[in-house]
Parts: sequence; C-alpha cells; structure tokens
Amino acid sequence: MEWEKQQKYYEIMEKITDTTCNPDYFSRDEFIASLNEFCDLFRIAKGETAFYLNAHSEQIGQGEIMIDRDNGHGDIEILHRRIAPKTGVIMVGKLYMSKDDEPLTEEEFAKVDLVYRIVMSFIARNRLQKKLYQFAFFDEDNYPNRRAFNRYIAESLMKNEQYNYTAICINLRHFSLINQDLGRFIGDKVLRIYFKLLEDEIGENGIVCRLGGDNFVLFIKNELTDRFLNLFSGVQINYDDNDPEKHISLSARAGVFKVSEKFPLDTPGQIMDKVFPAIQMAKQRGVNVAYYDEEFDSAKDHIQKVRQRFVEGMEKSEFRAFYQPKVDITTGKVVGAEALCRWFRDDRMVMPMEFIPILEMNKDICRLDFHMLKVVCSDIREWLDEGLSVPRISVNLSRKHLSDTDLLDRIIGIIDKYNVPHEYIEIELTETTTDVEFKELSYVVSGLRNAGIHSSVDDFGNGFSSLNLIRSVPWDVLKIDRSLLPTDDEHSIGVTSLYEHVVSIARDMGIQCISEGVETKKQVDLLRKNNCLIAQGFYFAKPMPKEEFVKLLDGTPFINKIN
Ligand code: C2E
Ligand code: MG
Ligand code: MG
Repeated sequence: MEWEKQQKYYEIMEKITDTTCNPDYFSRDEFIASLNEFCDLFRIAKGETAFYLNAHSEQIGQGEIMIDRDNGHGDIEILHRRIAPKTGVIMVGKLYMSKDDEPLTEEEFAKVDLVYRIVMSFIARNRLQKKLYQFAFFDEDNYPNRRAFNRYIAESLMKNEQYNYTAICINLRHFSLINQDLGRFIGDKVLRIYFKLLEDEIGENGIVCRLGGDNFVLFIKNELTDRFLNLFSGVQINYDDNDPEKHISLSARAGVFKVSEKFPLDTPGQIMDKVFPAIQMAKQRGVNVAYYDEEFDSAKDHIQKVRQRFVEGMEKSEFRAFYQPKVDITTGKVVGAEALCRWFRDDRMVMPMEFIPILEMNKDICRLDFHMLKVVCSDIREWLDEGLSVPRISVNLSRKHLSDTDLLDRIIGIIDKYNVPHEYIEIELTETTTDVEFKELSYVVSGLRNAGIHSSVDDFGNGFSSLNLIRSVPWDVLKIDRSLLPTDDEHSIGVTSLYEHVVSIARDMGIQCISEGVETKKQVDLLRKNNCLIAQGFYFAKPMPKEEFVKLLDGTPFINKIN
C-alpha cells in the first residue's frame, strides 16, 4: 500500500478510535463522515448493519436494518460478520464492493476487517447500553420502574431538594372488576391511559413509576399534592377513541408521605417504608387517603403494643365473654344473647373498640374469634349439663375469616368438640362491599345453614347496606343497627320512616328481625308497633358476666319492662 494511502488510513483510523473511545463526546455526523472517507479509500460501495432482538427474529428476517453508505454499486459481498453476545441480541454487518472495482489486496482486506470490527463492537456496545437502560429502568410492560424512581430521588437528595417533595403510593380501586367486566385488553389500555394522565400532570415536577399490577408510586413537588389527591378521588377515562360513550371512572387509594425535617430522607428506599404502611392504614380504615406523619407514628407504636399484649393476653386467658340478653318484648323472656368480648388486663376491663379494630388489621382477630367461640361453647355445655334452659347465643365473626377456606370446618369442629347441639349457636357477620367477599360470605352462610347453625347480618343499615346482599344469602336473622333506631328526641320529629322501612323489608322476606341498641321504653313501643319483637339493648340489660347472665335464664325477668 503506497505511503500516502497509508497515511490517510492512519488518519481515519485515529478519528474512528477517537470517537469510539469517547462515547460521551460522540458525534454521529463526524463518525459517519470518517466511515465514508474510509469506504472511499478502500473502494467499499455499501455498508449494511442489521440488529435482531433474538435468533428467531434473525431467522425470519425481522430486524432493524441500517445502511449508512450506499453508492449504488454494491454488487459483491466481501465481508460478513455476526456478533451474538449472551444477551441474545444479534448484530450482523456486511460490506460490499462493485464488480468493476479492483478487488482488495490481502493487506487492504486485513485493514478493512480491523476497522470494521472496531466499528461493529462500538455499535454493539451502544446498542447494549440502550437495551441495558431499558431493562434497568422500565418494566416488562414499558412502564418506568422502581429503579427509575430511586434514581430520581437519589438525584434530588444529591441536590438537597428532597424537602420540596411528597411521595404518594396509590392503588387503583376495583381494578380487578374492570379487568373482569371489560376484559384484560381494555384493562391494560385503561391502565396505560391513566398512567399517561399522571405523567402529563406531573410534567417536569416529579416522577411516577409502576410498582406492579395496579400499584403506582409518585414523587412530586409539594404544591401538586392537592391536585393529585383530587385526581385520585375519581377521574373519567375514555378507553375508546371512536366512542365517547365508552368511559369509566377510576379512583385510587393513596398513602402519602411528605419529606420534612421531622421525617427526613437518607436513602430512596426509605420512601417505601413510609408510603406502604400509610396505604395499608388507608385500606384498613376504609378511607381513601392516609398520611404518614406524627399521628401515624404514635398510632403505629400503639398498634405494636396491642399486638404484643394480645399474644400474652391469649396465653393468660385475659379475654372473657360477656353476655347481653336478647329479649322477646311480648313476653319479657330472654330468647337469646350475644357474646361480647372483654379484655381483663392490669385490673382494668378493656372494651372491644380499643382493641378489635387493631386485631382486625391482620388475622389476630381470627384467633380471638375462635377463642370466643370456644368460651361460649364451653359455657353452653356447662349450662346444659346443669339443666338450665339455654337460649341461642350469638358469636361475632370478623370478615377477616371469609377468605379462610376451612372456616366452616373449624367452626363446626369447635362446636362439636364441646358437644353443643348446633341450634344453640348463631354467627353474626357484618355486611360486605366487594364482590369477592360477597361470594365468600354467601358460601359461608349457606354452609352454616346446612350445618344447622344460625347466622345473622350484624349492624344492618350502618354503612353499605345492600338489599341484594340480604336477598341472595340465606340469613336467619337481621340485626338492625342502633343508628337506624330513632332516639326519643327524633321520635317526636318523625324520623321513623327509615326504620319502619327496613323492618318491613326484613319481615317481607321472612327473616327474623332484632333491633340493637334499644335504650328506652318509647323505643320498645316503636318496635312493637312495627312488629319487630326482639330487642337487645341497655334498656333491658348491658352485657354482663356469665354468672349474672345465668340468673336470667329461667322465667320472665323483664316482664316489668315491657308493660
Ligand atoms: P356489635 O356486634 O354490634 O355489638 C353490639 C355493641 O353494642 C356492643 O358493644 C354492645 O355493648 C353495644 N350495645 C348494646 N346495646 C346498646 C345500647 O342500648 N346502647 C348502646 N350505646 N350500645 C349498646 P361492645 O361490647 O363494645 O362491642 C362493640 C363491637 O365490638 C361489637 O359490635 C362487635 O362488632 C365487636 N366485638 C365485640 N366482641 C367481639 C368478638 O368477640 N369478635 C369480634 N369479631 N368482634 C367483637
Ligand atoms: Mg354483633
Ligand atoms: Mg351490632
């Protein structure tokens, strides 16, 4: 190779190695210009590079093909290289010459081959970098992932800007129902539209990432918080561009944490330790938003303490059953009783409201409920053995049990172990709101009925009453919540119609009806007028220890209260 050409070759080679070794200052135009010079020097007519995501794409020729040089005379293929790294991505490079040009000498070919290998490995590295970026910061559905989130936070920490931000973790409400009703395809589309909406709303003021499923996490400037909380309370999503009628309303539950002096942030990971418990709390409380703040912190300590003490309390048998009579208001007889839990701890009687909501946050409540059922069965057995006439006793069962697949067997197992005839037991369950729970509830209540165990809807009317719930589940008893029974003051202003309505529905469906929270004679009269003949409430008796309760079992202890 003549000297001049040698010189030119070294010059081009230097430029190429310069660009490829300094990817930070890489200029595509300069790179292509050097390659063109190189092709001119060595009579290369055409250069072609192809990328395939995997071997199969290569086989069927489905790749990304780039031709940066082509003078229209690429007749003969002179070089063919294939790079297949372990990532599965495949890169193929080819060079062509014109049939009219003089073929490359051995020395020329060696040089062309060397340069081409450098160029290809540079391009392959760039490609891999892009792929790596994609893998690292996006999930399989192409949503930014938690790593992208952490990187954003790390950057704000570096700039000491974290105090300007609030983190919010959200879970879409009833998204599984959307998937069920509209199909997965539309479900995915809705999710994408919703995500895009969040991204657009955030703009340059934060980041949103998907944690998986219908869970997302945001890190946004403080001033955006209210706007977003409003958005989470419900927004309309149109999922068919051709049909404006096709839309749904999407809302989300949120756990919120504002970075502050009181709750600083040292590492991005700490965000999740705050927003997860907060959203958990929102769920447990049945509210849309919960904040991780001082109040949350102290509540958390309290919860922790109750949980620890619960374990000790169970071991030391500190939980006892109190009985509140259910009274037939036509005879004054005790026709039933509800077993209510009392915790005797440190010489104090702790009321259920102080611990039941906490035990309901996890499955601790199930342990307590089974314990109560055992206590009640043991008491009934004792009373039956003493020859007392025992009425049916009801036991409260938390909704947390519903997902337990062998719930029925366990209930029946306990009752049978104490050798108590099934008709002495009634199970009180509260209403449900979700479809899944509804199916489970239906299954449990039917199972109880088949086993000859009564079941009642507790607190009916307090919350999400649904007549469907009552109609399609074979309940035996409807317990009308205290809040529906008019107080004496309300009586006079005629707030009785709702109560009357509910009682009449129960009667029409042939379900026995009990009024809870009866406190006055006037209320007893209202019950009688509406033909709801069983009452439970302080007017007759407060929940009492078993020793007191047994004294009421014979006779008509409340006869003077009903006349
Ligand atoms: P609940 O099942 O609706 O029980 C009725 C509650 O109303 C009892 O409160 C009872 O003392 C109260 N009550 C009855 N009559 C009157 C009245 O005339 N006026 C007023 N103001 N209140 C009346 P308690 O014993 O504090 O229990 C509260 C709740 O705790 C129960 O509501 C039940 O949901 C839950 N609970 C109690 N024991 C257990 C248990 O063993 N397991 C489960 N899962 N929950 C329980
Ligand atoms: Mg109850
Ligand atoms: Mg109740």
